Amino acid sequence: MSMRRVYRRIWGFYLSGTVLFFAVAAFGGRRVGGTSRDTRTPAAWLLVLPAALFLLGALTSMRSWRCESCGHVLPTMNARKCARCGGPIDYS
Ligand SMILES: [Zn+2]
Repeated sequence: MSMRRVYRRIWGFYLSGTVLFFAVAAFGGRRVGGTSRDTRTPAAWLLVLPAALFLLGALTSMRSWRCESCGHVLPTMNARKCARCGGPIDYS
């Protein structure tokens, strides 16, 4: 898998997890008279789904977002080259 696809997959997990979190927080089983921030609703278990997406993003980052030449873990944002070997990150 190319680094571009790994990068897109990681941020896809994070962004969809964020969107899903706010969707569940806003619309997920709001109680009558309760606020949307009250998580003690029957639908609070739906928050497991964005948590799982964040976990998938973190796992993909730890497993696949590594330097292609030396295997060193890369920074998540604005990575241009490897911190250990100085090799460039090919986003193509
Ligand atoms: Zn490296």
